[in-house]
Amino acid sequence: MNSPAPYRDPALPVAERVADLIGRMTLPEKVGQMLQLSGMEGVEHLVRDLHVGSILHTPPERVVEANALAAETRLGIPLLVAEDCIHGHSFWKGATIYPTQLGMAASWDPALIERVARATAVETAATGIHWTFSPVLCITRDLRWGRVSETFGEDPFLIGEFASAMVRGYQGEGLTDPTAILATAKHFAGYSETQGGRDASEADLSRRKMRSWFLPPFERVAREGCRTFMLGYQSIDGVPITINDWLLNEVLRGEWGYTGTLVTDWDNVGRMVWEQLICADHTEAAAKAVRAGNDVVMTTPQFYEGALRAVAEGTLAETDIDAAVRRILTLKFELGLFEDPRHPDPERQAAVIGSAAHAELNLEITRRSLVLLRNDGTLPLDGGLTADADGRAVAADGAAPRTVAVIGPNADDPHTQLGDWAGASGQTDWLMPDGHPREMTQTVLDGFRAVAPENWTVTHARGADILTVGRDPEGAFFPDGQPRPDVVLPAEPDEALIAEAVAAAEAADHVVAVVGDRIELVGESRSTATLELVGGQVALLDALAATGKPLVVVLLSSKPLVLPPSALNAAAVVYAANPGMRGGRALAEMLLGLVEPSGRLPVSFARHVGQQPTYYNQLRGQHGTRYADLTQSPAFAFGEGLSYTTVEYRDLEVLTPVLEAEDTVRARVTLTNTGDRPALETVQLYVSDTVTSVTWAAKELKGYRQLRLAPGESTTVALELPAADCTLVDAAGNRVVEPGAFELLVGPSSRDEALLRAGFTIKG
Ligand code: BGC
Repeated sequence: MNSPAPYRDPALPVAERVADLIGRMTLPEKVGQMLQLSGMEGVEHLVRDLHVGSILHTPPERVVEANALAAETRLGIPLLVAEDCIHGHSFWKGATIYPTQLGMAASWDPALIERVARATAVETAATGIHWTFSPVLCITRDLRWGRVSETFGEDPFLIGEFASAMVRGYQGEGLTDPTAILATAKHFAGYSETQGGRDASEADLSRRKMRSWFLPPFERVAREGCRTFMLGYQSIDGVPITINDWLLNEVLRGEWGYTGTLVTDWDNVGRMVWEQLICADHTEAAAKAVRAGNDVVMTTPQFYEGALRAVAEGTLAETDIDAAVRRILTLKFELGLFEDPRHPDPERQAAVIGSAAHAELNLEITRRSLVLLRNDGTLPLDGGLTADADGRAVAADGAAPRTVAVIGPNADDPHTQLGDWAGASGQTDWLMPDGHPREMTQTVLDGFRAVAPENWTVTHARGADILTVGRDPEGAFFPDGQPRPDVVLPAEPDEALIAEAVAAAEAADHVVAVVGDRIELVGESRSTATLELVGGQVALLDALAATGKPLVVVLLSSKPLVLPPSALNAAAVVYAANPGMRGGRALAEMLLGLVEPSGRLPVSFARHVGQQPTYYNQLRGQHGTRYADLTQSPAFAFGEGLSYTTVEYRDLEVLTPVLEAEDTVRARVTLTNTGDRPALETVQLYVSDTVTSVTWAAKELKGYRQLRLAPGESTTVALELPAADCTLVDAAGNRVVEPGAFELLVGPSSRDEALLRAGFTIKG
C-alpha cells in the first residue's frame, strides 16, 4: 500500500508539509489558492475550474457543497471560509448581534470586548466559518465618513487596547482550538483619512502621520499575533495601498516581523485597472499585487488569468506566487484543516447560536455602551424603582402609576438598532432580506414595555419619518457590476405625525424621544455630506421641546450627529451607538434607573458639520481656537460621559517628579463619589509634552482605570505610566521620548477644564 503523501502527515512539521504540498501543485492550482471569491452565485466553477483557496459571503448550503467539492479535488486542499462577523455573526439568522464596535468602545472595557469576540467566535466557528474580517483599526477622523460605526473611535491608544482584546477573543487559545477563528486587522492602513469624509478617497497622509497615529494599533496586533491583515481602498501619495511596498514590506513584514497573511480588500486588484486606472490590464495588476506581497486576492476573478499570463510573459516569477501560497497553506495547516476541515456543525449551532448566555453577555456590554451626555436631574425617570427577579421595575409601595411616551422614528426600528453589517444592512441581502428574527431584537419601545413597572402605561408615536430612497441618478450598478446603493431622499416634516407625538407627550409623565440615522445613511459608499438629523426629526424635537415637558433625547445612531438646540437644551441626552439586539432593554433599564450609566465617548461630537475634524488630539496650531462664527470646541468631547451621581477629583500628585526614561511615572489622585448613587468611573490619564521638537498634540490618552465607587465613598487611586510611553514622532519619523518637562492630566474626560494637572520631568 502507498503511504500517504507527507503533506497529509500531521506528525510532520508544518513547514515540511507546506513544502511537500507546494511541490505537488501546478501553477494554476497555486494561483487559484490565492483567490478568494464570493460563493453567492454558486461554488462549483470556483472550486473545480479556478481552484480557489478561499470563499466568502457564501450561503450555508453552498459552504457544505464547496467543502465537498474541495475534498474531491486532486490534492484535496481544504477551503478557508471567510465572512464579516463584525459585531456578532452578522449574517447568520438568529446569531447574537452586539453593539457596533463604536458602541462597544464606549464601555472602555477590553475584557468585556474580548468576551464578546470569544462568544462571536464560538457562534461563527459552529457554522463552518474559519475567518472573520474583524476588527477594524481605522481611526475616526471626519465624522461624515460612512464607516465611523465600524471603528473604535478616534484615539489610537484605545483602538490598540480594544483591537488587541478582540483579536485575542477571536483567536482564542490558539488556532488548533476548534472554536478559534482567524482575526483580521483592517483596513491597513490610513483608509479612514478621507477627504471631505468621502469613502475611499485618496488619503492625504505622510509617513510621519502614519507612524504617529494610524500605524501604532496595527503594530500592536501584528506583534501580538493577529493572523491576517486586510488592506483598504485608499491610495497614499498616488500609490494604491495594494501595492504600497513601504507599508506592506518594509513596515509590516520587515520592521514588525509580521509572518501572517495579507488579504486585499474587495476587488482591490481589479480596481487598479477599472477604477484607479493605474494598470493597463489584469495581467499587469496581478503581477504588481503579487510582487507587493499580497497573499489572498479578494473578489477579483480576473486575477486567475492575469497571474497565469504574467508568469507566461515573464513579468511575474512563480517563486513570488509560491511565497504567497506558502503563507496561505501555513495558515490552513496551523488551523488543522487537513485533519479536521471544521465543517458546519448543526448540533453545535443549535447549542451556541443566539444562546441565552450570549444574550446575557450582549445585555452586559450594551448597558456599558450607553453614554449619558446631559442630565438636569430628570434621569433616572423615577429614582425609586427597584428590579424584580425578572428584571422588571417595581415602583415603591403607593407610588402613582406613570405614563411614558416613547416617541420618534428610532424608538421601534429593529434594523437601525442593529446597525451596519447585521442582517438586512445591505451586504448580503439575498441571505436574509428581512434581517434577523424580529423577536430577537428589543427596540426601545419593546424595552420599556418589558421593563417599566406593570402598572405604568407605555405609549408610542413615530412623530417623524427620516427618509425614503431613490435610484442613484448615475445608474443602478458600478462599472464592475456591483450594485450602487440607493440615494437618500430626506422626508419632509409631517404635521399629522408631529401632532400625534405632541399629544402623546402632553398626555405622558415622561417623554423619551429616540432619533438618529438609518442604515441608508451608514456604511461603505454611504458617507454623509451633513451630520444633521435627517427628515422630520428636528421639527419633531422642536415641537416636543415646545410642550414644556422635560424631554429625554436618545440619539440612536451609527455615529455622532449634530444635535439641534431643542436636543442640546433638553432635560437629558443619551447616546446609543447602534446598540444591538438588547439595546432597547438596556436603554429602558438605564432611563428607569435600574442600571447606572457608565459609558464614555470614544469619539467627539461636533456642534456643526463645518467643524470637521473634531478629534481631541489635534496638533497645536496657531491663531487660536475659534472660527469667526463658531468655536472649534466640540459639543461633547472624547472621554465625556455622566453618571447618575457626581464624582469629584482632587489632589493629583506625581510621586516621581524627576525620572529616567526607563522609569515609571507614578502618581495618585483622590476621587469622591459626592452623590447618592453608585458610580463606575473611568479615570483618564493624558500626557502633555511641554516643549516638543515638532508640533504635537496638546494631549494624548496614555492610560485609564475604571473603578466602582459607592455613594459617599472616597478613594485614592494609584496611577502608573512608563516614561517610555511619553513619546512623539520626530521630524525624521522616529518615535522617541524627548527628555524635558511633561504634564500629567487626570480627570473624567479630555476637556481641559475637567482635568487636574501635575508636572514631571524625564531626564536626558
Ligand atoms: C470592506 C471590508 C469587508 C469586505 C468583505 C469590503 O468592501 O471594505 O471591510 O471585509 O468588503 O465584505
